[in-house]
Amino acid sequence: MKKLIFFVLGIVCLSAVAMGVSDCTCSGGEKKAAQSGQLLEIFDVDGSCAKARLTIDGEEIFVTDVFIGQKGLGKQREGDRKTPVGTLHIKGAFGVKPNPGTSINYIDVTPSIFACGDNNAYYNQVIDTAALHHKCNGEDMYHIVPEYNYGMMTDYNAACVPGLGSAIFIHCKGSKAYTAGCIAFDEERMIEILRRCDSTLVVKVGK
Ligand SMILES: [Zn+2]
Repeated sequence: MKKLIFFVLGIVCLSAVAMGVSDCTCSGGEKKAAQSGQLLEIFDVDGSCAKARLTIDGEEIFVTDVFIGQKGLGKQREGDRKTPVGTLHIKGAFGVKPNPGTSINYIDVTPSIFACGDNNAYYNQVIDTAALHHKCNGEDMYHIVPEYNYGMMTDYNAACVPGLGSAIFIHCKGSKAYTAGCIAFDEERMIEILRRCDSTLVVKVGK
């Protein structure tokens, strides 16, 4: 009888160890997955200033100072001058200057390229107004320099619902220490992001 009890206890212990090992393997796998890929984190927000960290496959590439919306984080509406919180993806890249070597689909910003903010089918899209015969009241991107020397479009307001916010970009710094809701980098950092990252880049904006 004693032998049977020890045998049963032994099985229980072995099962517990096996389950424990299984748990460790699982959580380790998740950790590795979270570290792979390209991640741009916006943190340490202080008014319209913040830090940005670029990480590629778990390796920190740089931490740098950026400008965000004049009113900080928490975008809700068009014109609230806030930067959206949460996860953003990249819809494409653009620039008044030529493609610096990114694999992301790159729009050469000519005088007819606008970021539409009008209440119509083009809302929250970068469009060629000449090709579409659209008299646009949105952003005349060609003349927004040096900010739009280089940039990337995010998928904020992906459904393009008029009024919920448009043209949330990652772009170069201008003369002001804030943006209207975008995230602004020094131009050399913007070029580095474009060269090192592709359209799988994930942007996480936090506090
Ligand atoms: Zn328009």
